[in-house]
Amino acid sequence: MRRFAECADAIAATSSKLEKVRILGEYLASLDVDRLAVATRFMAGRIFPAWDGRVLMVGWAAMRTVVLELTGAGDTEMAASYRRHADSGDVMRDLMEAAGHAAPGLDILEVAAGFDRIAATTGSSRARTVQLTELLRACTPAEGRYVTKLISGDMRIGLREGLVEEAVARAFDRPAAAVARADMLMGDLGAVAVLAAGDRLAEAAPRLGAPLRYMLASPVADAAEVVARMGEEVWVEDKYDGIRCQLHKGPERTALYSRDLREITGQFPEIVAAAAELDGDLVLDGELLGFRDGRVMPFFDLQTRLGRKSPSAAVLEAVPVVFTAWDLLHQGGEWLLDTPLRERRARLEALRLGGRFAVAHLERATGAAEVDALFLDARARLNEGLMAKNPDSSYTPGRRGLAWLKLKRPLDTLDCVVVGAEWGHGKRRGVLSDVTFAVRIAEGSDELATVGKAYTGLTDAEIAEMTRLLLDSTVQDHGHHRSVRPEIVVEIAFDSVQPSTRHRSGYALRFPRIARWRHDKGPEDIDTLERVRQIATALVENREQRVDQA
Ligand code: AMP
Repeated sequence: MRRFAECADAIAATSSKLEKVRILGEYLASLDVDRLAVATRFMAGRIFPAWDGRVLMVGWAAMRTVVLELTGAGDTEMAASYRRHADSGDVMRDLMEAAGHAAPGLDILEVAAGFDRIAATTGSSRARTVQLTELLRACTPAEGRYVTKLISGDMRIGLREGLVEEAVARAFDRPAAAVARADMLMGDLGAVAVLAAGDRLAEAAPRLGAPLRYMLASPVADAAEVVARMGEEVWVEDKYDGIRCQLHKGPERTALYSRDLREITGQFPEIVAAAAELDGDLVLDGELLGFRDGRVMPFFDLQTRLGRKSPSAAVLEAVPVVFTAWDLLHQGGEWLLDTPLRERRARLEALRLGGRFAVAHLERATGAAEVDALFLDARARLNEGLMAKNPDSSYTPGRRGLAWLKLKRPLDTLDCVVVGAEWGHGKRRGVLSDVTFAVRIAEGSDELATVGKAYTGLTDAEIAEMTRLLLDSTVQDHGHHRSVRPEIVVEIAFDSVQPSTRHRSGYALRFPRIARWRHDKGPEDIDTLERVRQIATALVENREQRVDQA
């Protein structure tokens, strides 16, 4: 692990991508197969492969206990160190050094085994904390820093996954495109590096039952841009507001995976049962949607099912779910990723999905005017936008390419007043970059009610200016968070509104962002709760998303 830490330090110390790739390539080429798999995965910032369902479940509170037990440092020292570094790995090294921590250090395989043990420790969080303390106790401060960075999920050494792929290619003198492709299919750079070392990249393939990363869409501004990027022939689907889901039906069992590749099979038993009725092995990509009386339910209703390990009969009854598929990735032993969407869709339709399954409603458009008409129609049905797909495209896991485009416009905007602010992290360290905002309870009333929190979409200069004003208008400083006098008015764009217990108004805007700083408006000009209510009601009553069932 010492060499890993030194290598990572050297990578962080240079801003040249070429140099980063060279340093990492040399290091990887020097490792045996077992260490190669682990070190490559770690360099990509991952403890386990992307498809691996295991998680460490070590949160902030556990980290705090570990630091205290290991270094004797309390909240004050931790907070001070965090203000200096804004990185939990740096804080760990700092406090370990300050405590005079001495240890011989660990082999990288011992670190990996330590992570395995923590992940295997289910039930008591105390037991995981003890395991982690023991792991870190055996590390040097430099190693502890990277162990902590890995746990936090962010290495911050300026190494994107693409650069790790390049370094693997360089280490074993293989084509970069072959490495990238293998990574796309396998979702584990560790395994890819091992294949590259043995000149076996051609063997890379997805596995039924191990989730593939999802194909993603790139944002575009308007219909003209869709056609400019995709050509005249454009396939258009609603942009559903549910839970992205991948369904793997194998010979023995069906598994469901969420957008972050976690297994959520137990949460949707009705879908698993229905899948048993389908013919043969299948992998479907689509969205879980609440569905009642032939209508897609608001996301808010579906949300009540999130995180419930095994839903009760009452929950199953209250929010029935359909799996709406838009893609078929595997059928009867055959992977279809390189098969054009046109044929994947034809095969999907031939499955004649019904009951707990549906197929995304598809419109085939030609030219920008037709795409625009479909966009306007989607907006009229109160959808945030639509998805445009190239019928000739292959399915590229984990890639945000130009074969899928999303065309969105905010649902609406509200003028709100800033009532609270938080210090930012990373690049936004030292500025109040997150703001809480509110509307007026009623026209003419002085009472305000919060409706959301946004990371500012302002320029650096505006954020600096706003920070100054917010510091001046602070009425209460709670450390990380402060309440401010309601003076600054911002126009907030958002995609949806839903009931919420978190905010005083009883509503929360979804995906809020600051569209503009309204210097021209004062707190007396802001919107009212009544307007928020109207928007929320219209969404529940009039929103329509279309799915097709056999
Ligand atoms: P975004 O989250 O804004 O990046 O949009 C991408 C997400 O849109 C995907 O992860 C899907 O969950 C979702 N989505 C909704 N409808 C579709 C669709 N018809 N095809 C593909 N993705 C969709």
